[in-house]
Amino acid sequence: MSILSTFNQQAMPVQADAVIVGAGIQGCAAAYYLAKRGAKVVVLEKARIAGQQSGRAWGFVRAMDRDPAETPLMLACLKLWQGLEAELGADIEWRQGGNLFLAADEAELARFEIGAARDRVFGVDTKVITPKEVLSLIPGLVDAGPGGLWGPKEGQAEPRKVSAAFARKATELGALFFEGCGAVGIDRQAGAVTAVVSEAGTIRSKVVILAAGASSFRVMRGLGLSLPQQLARFTCSRTNAVPPLGNIAFYGHHIGFRQRPDGTLNLAEELQVDVDLTLDRFRALQWFLPSLWENRHATSFRINDVTARDLLHRLPWRPETQQPWIHDRDPLIPPNMKRVRNAVAQIGKLFPSTIGVQAVESWAGNVDLMPDGIPVLGPVAEVPGLILATGLTGHGFGMGPIVGRLMSEIVLDGEPSLDLHAFRFSRYAEGKVGRFSTRY
Ligand SMILES: Cc1cc2nc3c(=O)[nH]c(=O)nc-3n(C[C@H](O)[C@H](O)[C@H](O)COP(=O)(O)OP(=O)(O)OC[C@H]3O[C@@H](n4cnc5c(N)ncnc54)[C@H](O)[C@@H]3O)c2cc1C
Repeated sequence: MSILSTFNQQAMPVQADAVIVGAGIQGCAAAYYLAKRGAKVVVLEKARIAGQQSGRAWGFVRAMDRDPAETPLMLACLKLWQGLEAELGADIEWRQGGNLFLAADEAELARFEIGAARDRVFGVDTKVITPKEVLSLIPGLVDAGPGGLWGPKEGQAEPRKVSAAFARKATELGALFFEGCGAVGIDRQAGAVTAVVSEAGTIRSKVVILAAGASSFRVMRGLGLSLPQQLARFTCSRTNAVPPLGNIAFYGHHIGFRQRPDGTLNLAEELQVDVDLTLDRFRALQWFLPSLWENRHATSFRINDVTARDLLHRLPWRPETQQPWIHDRDPLIPPNMKRVRNAVAQIGKLFPSTIGVQAVESWAGNVDLMPDGIPVLGPVAEVPGLILATGLTGHGFGMGPIVGRLMSEIVLDGEPSLDLHAFRFSRYAEGKVGRFSTRY
């Protein structure tokens, strides 16, 4: 199969300094930061740039209330976000309007106090605020509850624009993106990476960055390694334009939303996820049982057409079985319309100015969860040359720029400028896995 690169129609090269598998935000950002420093980069994408999670996210960019291992990364990342529109020469709808979590009750407010104190140790400007302060920030709200957690420096951007902006700028700097062209193998000598086999030919490279999102475990399985990654389905919708509610990213009373510059809302039921039951859900189950139990009220298990399709895909003559790294190239992921209706009804109750609002578009995405809620970032000792940038656990849109930059540093400087020890792949083999403590 012959294929030309996206944006600039170049042929597939035979050699590269680094090959990136997956053109979500992690892969596109890594390509940009590598190309910016002169590296020859090829990005393989089995379907479309940002066709999976990175184009389906809500668009919240949050440093506050993170796992402490992630906080220093997100502090550095917020600085990158602030300069990104100028750097990429693109409108990505970046706004730094702050982030508000409303507390459900006094117990949650007390937990927020602990989180805020921890954030401040790292230099993240987070504080607990009173109901009166909540209402001064977001005046249309009818019920401010017992108060909330406020981060004035947090931001938001448009997921449908960001990865493509990274990819276009990376292309200007010499990177080559191949859409509809997946990675199907990695050649090795004495265990180390020597080449990546794509659907359109082999590219010699000693470095491969695996940023394949919810499919990363399939690639790792092909290399004889087990990545305890699981999938959950998040649903989101976009409404028609409503009167201004401000630039705040809001979570509370079971919904989350942000208002885009054109007045439309990205709206979802907060923290509610669906787990479509397939045989793969039983893989790595032991890692997930504690967090599944803890999050049982926010999780729904479903036997549905995804279950049926999964069984079909297991037949030995099916392409999904024949070519496991590609598997379901561009999976159909239906939104949960009940969650959409709940969120629409709830926003009308909370903000009377939005009564009558409608969801004009709804979608869902499969997020890649790790059992400890933090990603896997960095080299894999078993396969020299393989670097992981995956398992972003539902909050990797905001982290994309810093993950991309750190990946470029590992490739070009031999080590990252921030400590990635907590994110090492080997933590699972060592059994040193923390509690799932993250918000998505
Ligand atoms: C509905 C929803 C809302 C979200 N909201 C937020 C939010 O507000 N804030 C936030 O920070 N995060 C959010 N997230 C999470 C965030 O979107 C993800 O963490 C992030 O986009 C992951 O980026 P990625 O590049 O790792 O993966 P992806 O964007 O999934 O990209 C992986 C890519 O790899 C490709 N691929 C797979 N296998 C191969 C192969 N063999 N060869 C070539 N290519 C391959 C896939 O086709 C895909 O394009 C949300 C996610 C969803 C679904």
